[in-house]
Amino acid sequence: MDFQPSLRSDELKARLVEFDDEVVRPAEPVYRQQRADSGDPHYPPPVMEELKAEARRRELWNLFLPEGDHGAKLSNLDYAPLCEVMGGSPLLSEATNCAAPDTGNMEILAQFGTPLQQEQWLQPLLDGEIRSCFAMTEPWVASSDATNISSRIEPDGDDYVINGHKWFTSGALDPRCKVAVFMGVTNPGADAHRRQSMILVPMDAPGVTVVRGLPVFGHSEGGGHGETLWENVRVPKENLLGEEGGGFAIAQARLGPGRIHHCMRAIGLAERALDLMCMRAQTRVAFGKPLADQGVVRERIAESRMQIEQVRLLTLKTAWMMDTVGKKAAQTEIAAIKVMAARVATDVIDRAIQLFGGAGVTDDWPLASMYAHARTLHLVDGPDEVHMRQIARRELGKYAYLRPAGF
Ligand SMILES: Cc1cc2nc3c(=O)[nH]c(=O)nc-3n(C[C@H](O)[C@H](O)[C@H](O)COP(=O)(O)OP(=O)(O)OC[C@H]3O[C@@H](n4cnc5c(N)ncnc54)[C@H](O)[C@@H]3O)c2cc1C
Repeated sequence: MDFQPSLRSDELKARLVEFDDEVVRPAEPVYRQQRADSGDPHYPPPVMEELKAEARRRELWNLFLPEGDHGAKLSNLDYAPLCEVMGGSPLLSEATNCAAPDTGNMEILAQFGTPLQQEQWLQPLLDGEIRSCFAMTEPWVASSDATNISSRIEPDGDDYVINGHKWFTSGALDPRCKVAVFMGVTNPGADAHRRQSMILVPMDAPGVTVVRGLPVFGHSEGGGHGETLWENVRVPKENLLGEEGGGFAIAQARLGPGRIHHCMRAIGLAERALDLMCMRAQTRVAFGKPLADQGVVRERIAESRMQIEQVRLLTLKTAWMMDTVGKKAAQTEIAAIKVMAARVATDVIDRAIQLFGGAGVTDDWPLASMYAHARTLHLVDGPDEVHMRQIARRELGKYAYLRPAGF
């Protein structure tokens, strides 16, 4: 295994850190103030457009696309350290046009989109002019099993007609969100994994309603997580992404790199929590000495460092495998880091909150919102249990010959 990032990755990382320190972090209070002044929690603060322009000027733009004709064409291993930097800074991913769910949507548009679809939707996304959402999860079925998805995409002349009820459509409340990648059933009689398709739906198409934003731990801001209704929405047949019945396969393709990006960002989040924990431990005095001199605090700091190092190595191994032997061969590792990165991030942030005392759960420090975000990572892109189920299935598969006949 060779986890050494290339010189290009090192150089990009140095410039990304500089951009973050000099420009992006100092803009955080401006960003918050502009949103507060607007009175609308989903208002996109204009300072973000300034940050994006500066990122483009510094050639820190679309760093995520590993292959094809667009983006930086970095390997997963080279992108890992950059994504980790982004994880520790709330505005940096969007400022560099590397934010979910657009990254996953751009990846599948680059991979499966027709030239027309790419011109209409991929190019404006790559240029940071619009944003997008991904509408798969439904309130009335267990959506961690994607074969349950029941929304319909039915052919009618030259069009498809879409009917469905979705939720957790992240980004749908952002006024810049112009297109949805929608998953629904086109072939109800087909094999379970060949029933669904994906289709591109303009958010201003008649019949699309964003019913509400779903608060996460009581908060709803930014692009939000929309509950969305799709009633007799008519789009031309050329909006289908890939082939009819290919939705499940595209969903799998979308989640591979997307998962690794979430994990890398989660490690960045955990690093930031550990930074904060160490600074607070050195400066806060209780019972006659700095908190840093309490054995239990040292143990928690050590535990956090050890966990972060473990999960970073596993993530780098996974990135390296994806680059060298492909996503399929790296399935177990991809599933494992999805679970472990979320676990480590929540563990470390939880310890940091405890060390901060009451301040840890307020909005005076970023820890509470970091925790809320890390906690959702146990659910997004499939809950932990589903990934562990896959890992166990592959492990047990090696011993399948031992099973009694009939089981
Ligand atoms: C903040 C956030 C953002 C999201 N963004 C998006 C988005 O942009 N687009 C989108 O389409 N979806 C999105 N989701 C939805 C997310 O992908 C789903 O919540 C997730 O896939 C689980 O589906 P479900 O909520 O229907 O849970 P269910 O499928 O009902 O599962 C509930 C629980 O059952 C348990 N469970 C399920 N299967 C098993 C099993 N095999 N073994 C053991 N236990 C099991 C797990 O504990 C699981 O958490 C988002 C979710 C959150 C929280």
